[in-house]
Amino acid sequence: MSVRIKFLGGVQTVTGSSHLVSTRFSDILIDCGLFYGRRDEFYELNSSFKYNPRELDAVLLSHAHIDHCGNLPNLIKRGLHCKIYTTSATKDLCSLMLADSGKVQEEDVRYLNKINRRLGQRQRMRRPLYTEKEGRHSLRKFRALSYRQRFKVTKDVTCTFYDAAHILGSSIIVLDINSDRNNNMRIGYAVDLGRKGLPLLNEPTIIEGMDYLILESTYGGRVHSPIAEAKNKLKDAINRTIERSGKVIIPSFALERAQEVIYFLNELIKEKQIPPIPIYVDSPLATNITDVFRTHYGYLDNETRMAMKSKKEGPFDFVNLNYIADRNDSKSLNNDKRPMIIIAGSGMCEAGRILHHLKNNITESKNTVLVVGYMAENTLGKKIVERQRYVRIYGVEYELNAEVVVINAFSGHADKNELCEYVKSCLPIKKVFIVHGEKEQSENIAGLLSQSGINTHIPEKYEEAVLT
Ligand SMILES: [Zn+2]
Repeated sequence: MSVRIKFLGGVQTVTGSSHLVSTRFSDILIDCGLFYGRRDEFYELNSSFKYNPRELDAVLLSHAHIDHCGNLPNLIKRGLHCKIYTTSATKDLCSLMLADSGKVQEEDVRYLNKINRRLGQRQRMRRPLYTEKEGRHSLRKFRALSYRQRFKVTKDVTCTFYDAAHILGSSIIVLDINSDRNNNMRIGYAVDLGRKGLPLLNEPTIIEGMDYLILESTYGGRVHSPIAEAKNKLKDAINRTIERSGKVIIPSFALERAQEVIYFLNELIKEKQIPPIPIYVDSPLATNITDVFRTHYGYLDNETRMAMKSKKEGPFDFVNLNYIADRNDSKSLNNDKRPMIIIAGSGMCEAGRILHHLKNNITESKNTVLVVGYMAENTLGKKIVERQRYVRIYGVEYELNAEVVVINAFSGHADKNELCEYVKSCLPIKKVFIVHGEKEQSENIAGLLSQSGINTHIPEKYEEAVLT
């Protein structure tokens, strides 16, 4: 039996995850993420597919992060006939994430076309890869499944989703391929893979009997601080700010990180480690995503499940926590001078309501900007992390006097030790394909696994591996 995997994206880099598994009878795509890059590259690389979408027999989706699901609406526009299989939680998250992604693209294109018109440049009008509406409508192709529910994808492939413990509904995808009688092959896909001990989530499931494993390596060369450190740093930063009668501004990604921060804040208040000051979640997307967490609480860990089942006051609903929908309510927070915590998007401070909170608060030294997520190069978030003296918001320079606290311990990706431990607990495996990491990170984890006698390979983009 021969099975081929073509590594289409998310190899030796962390965005644009997509891989094509071809067997004797079927072509199955795993993930179809957006590649992030400079604007021209973004539109060019995400617009072309190295296969005919009409000929796919099934698409399997690991989780709702845009770098894994964000190009699905475009794939559908190019004629995808088949179904997209994923967990029920991922399906509901995707309805919000894909609509939001379409909206962001529409806004970006509108802005760009306006500038080009103003400059009198005769460039072709740009179009988004897909609109908000097309993002939402792509859900029609989705079919929802539960963890551990074996289902026949095609004539010769059966698939099962297992908990990857990375974000709500995230899966390790296991394919059992049976093209010839008496000859089975099992391929696992752990991209992305979570960590033990993350708030809200279970542990990654150990998969036995795999012949091949496709493994992420975002932090293949790094070790995270323990998650308990995140809670402690959060507590100290908040208490210091309250003593100065200031506000704590937390830029946060709407999916998972916002809910983790809310969860810890609830714990800190319950344990009386911080006073019950008002907390505002000022992100319509984060508010809607939190609703998906409430609906799909069965995917969460035991402790959270019990808390959400038995009490009216759960981790996402407590007295001093307020979800803000209206834009005017958001703006009026500026007139409220009490100490408070504001969680707002976007995560890297590039757009969204966080901008007006930063503009109104970063010049005063009594306030704190609390960074809980990754900030890419050239973003406003990165400039704040670097504590640059002046930062530009809405085209105006502001002096950065607020305290800046960076908490790195929140990561939802396994670090190098956790990746090694995971692979070792799944042995024997014939070969581990290392993807979803910058080259250095992939090489690091490949080296560590090789030292333990494990066969590894870091594919090039568009490389095709033949598995026997
Ligand atoms: Zn992810």
